[in-house]
This record gives sequence, C-alpha cells and structure tokens, in this order.
Amino acid sequence: MAKNWKTKLIHPGAHAPEGFSSLAPATYRGSTVLFPNAAAVEDTWDQHAVGYTYGLYGTPTTLELAARICELENGYRTFITPGGQAAISLISFAFLKMGDHILVPESIYYPNRKFSVELLQRFGIEASFYPPTVGAQIGSLLRENTRLVWCESPGSISMEVQDVPAIAAAAHEHGALVVLDNTWAAGVYFDAFAHGVDITMQALTKYVGGHSDFLLGSVTMRDDAAYQKIGLAHQLLGCAASPDDCTLALRGLKTLAVRLAAIEKSAFALAQWLAARPEIDLVLHPAMPSCPGHEFFKRDFTGSTGVFSIVFKSHLSKEQVHAFVNNLTLFKIGYSWAGVTSLAVAYDFGSRPSRPDYGHRIVRLNIGLEDASDLQADLAQSLEKMK
Ligand SMILES: *Cc1c(COP(=O)(O)O)cnc(C)c1O
Repeated sequence: MAKNWKTKLIHPGAHAPEGFSSLAPATYRGSTVLFPNAAAVEDTWDQHAVGYTYGLYGTPTTLELAARICELENGYRTFITPGGQAAISLISFAFLKMGDHILVPESIYYPNRKFSVELLQRFGIEASFYPPTVGAQIGSLLRENTRLVWCESPGSISMEVQDVPAIAAAAHEHGALVVLDNTWAAGVYFDAFAHGVDITMQALTKYVGGHSDFLLGSVTMRDDAAYQKIGLAHQLLGCAASPDDCTLALRGLKTLAVRLAAIEKSAFALAQWLAARPEIDLVLHPAMPSCPGHEFFKRDFTGSTGVFSIVFKSHLSKEQVHAFVNNLTLFKIGYSWAGVTSLAVAYDFGSRPSRPDYGHRIVRLNIGLEDASDLQADLAQSLEKMK
C-alpha cells in the first residue's frame, strides 16, 4: 500500500544500517512501550519479572544505571528516582503507615528532617531525633512501633561518623529497618549492607554525576521483600527519572574512581593545612581524629571524599565568617556539592537547637578538581583578610 508522506513521517520505511557497536551506552527514551499483541498488555512495575511495560518504570537506560549502582553497592536491586530527596520520600512512603514511629539522627540532611516533621506528621507518623553519636544506646530510644531508623554517616554539615553496625544490631533486635543515606561515601567507600543496613539511598546528583548538571537519586535494598514494597511505591508515586539524565550518570560512573582519588587527596591535604591555622578551632573531616566518630571511619570506610567542615574560633563574628566565604575567589557559594568546582557555605547552628554548639562559626567546604595549591592560596588570602 503506497503511503502519503504524512504517514511516512510516523511509519517510515527507511532505516539506518544495523550493527552499531559503541562504548557509549544508548539513551532509550520512551513513555509508550509496545506490546506484541492484545493479550500481552499489562501494567506491572516489575520490569525484571514481566519485561518492559511503561516508561515510568524505566527504559533500558534507567535500568542499566540501576543495575550498575546496585552492583557497586552489593545490593539486591536498585530504583532510580528524580533526585536524592525523592529517594528519601520514596523510602518513607514504601514502609510507613499511620501510627508508626521513626528515629532520625539530628545530623540528617535538612530536607529529610523537614520531610519527617512537616509531611510525615500529617499522616500520623511520629519522628524523633537522636544524637548521631548514640551508637548502641539507641536501643533505649526504640519503641514497639519504631519502623525505620535513619542513619547518615557522616552527617550533613556537622560530619559525625556513626557506629552503623551497633545501631543496626539494636534496631534489628526491635524489628526496625535501618536506612542509610550513603551519599557522602558515593556508595563505594562504605559497604552499607556488610555493616547491617537494610536500605540505602544516594543522591546520584553528587559524586556519581560529579559535574553539577543533573538531579537523580537511587534506592537500593538487600532483599526481595523490600524490593516489592519500594517498587509499588515507586510506581504509585510516579518516580520517573529522565533517561537523558541517566545517560549522564552512566558517564559519570566511568570517571568516579579517578575523580574521587584526586578529590580525596586534595581535601585531606587542605583539611590538615586548615587545622594548623590560628583562625580555625576545629576541622570536621572524617579522616581526622578531630571529627566525632573518627574511630568508626577508620574501622568501616575505605576512603574519604571531598566534603568537610571547619569551625572558626569563638572570637570571630558572623560577619567575619561571612566575609571569609565572600572573599574566596575559586570557591563558589552554592548547594549540591561533589561537582568539579570547589564550594563554601556558611551555616548558623544557633538557629538549629539540636545541632552541636558551633553557632555561626561553621563553614562547609566542597573540594573540587582545581589544583590543591591554588585552593590553599585562595583559602589563605581570605583568612588573612579576616584580621
Ligand atoms: C544533596 C543531598 C540529598 C538530596 O539530593 P538531591 O538530588 O539534591 O535531591 C540527600 N542527601 C544528602 C546527604 C545530600 O547531600
């Protein structure tokens, strides 16, 4: 049957030659997925069980990224989400119901805390916050209805490294699941499942992406029971991730090891240099003894990354700390670390009563891929200007 050109636009007879084999993974986009016949049509989220049914549950590009993250974290399966924060909320919606209680460290990523307090509370779920250094003592905080225990190690901004195995042992004794935000360790420097964690999430936005140009998250679990619960919630919440962004994440994975090696070296050298400066009271870098929980870092981690915090001496005013951040030239000011550009952000713990008593004196640094001596010179010139 001869076709009108308008029909040919939609149903072409011409095609590119086959047999292309490249090192770059293909980007499969798609909402509609074609079925071979009427009886084969079904809307099941589990693409591993039934094959591909709908773009929401992932195209080969999304599921390739999921499989690769899962392999690196030694998990059972992984879901990709539109961002790290979506990974956090997905876990809560998958496991929690009215009347449940969760335990969250005071050092948790702030939007996770806000989610627990402002949103979960509306659904009749109670969150209580525990000191991140609690260790096995968490046993006394667990209740009959405690369903999830969150961990984040090291914690956001204040950097406490947690005794995750001790927390996991106590939680499991009470029948609670242990969830870890594994973003700082990039899913590779802390083997969460070997240390008792049940579910991990990462902001792939950070080290896996590594170039500050997309948002994605991941949720990885150790068994099929959790996979079924999270998969259903992933479908019902509509947590679709862009295959184009997944392609960028797959590209990021190829250079993750060399980026992390360079960043680890620069960050550690700068942290040690800062610790010797007269303006600095405390350096909160997990690989240094001055960081709370350093002993757990030494025991459980195989490397460190590029985010750490510095606490200025108490005679320095908030204006002086802000001037330090403003006078930096290579370090930029902004959220979402782990890219190639160094960043500095000043925080005020005075307005967050449950945080350690660092007041206005704490600044978080993200070390990027600039030359370390240039970064040191930038820090030095800005510290000099504080006088
Ligand atoms: C950035 C971040 C997130 C959230 O990731 P987004 O992709 O920005 O939504 C979650 N946890 C930690 C520890 C983070 O640093």
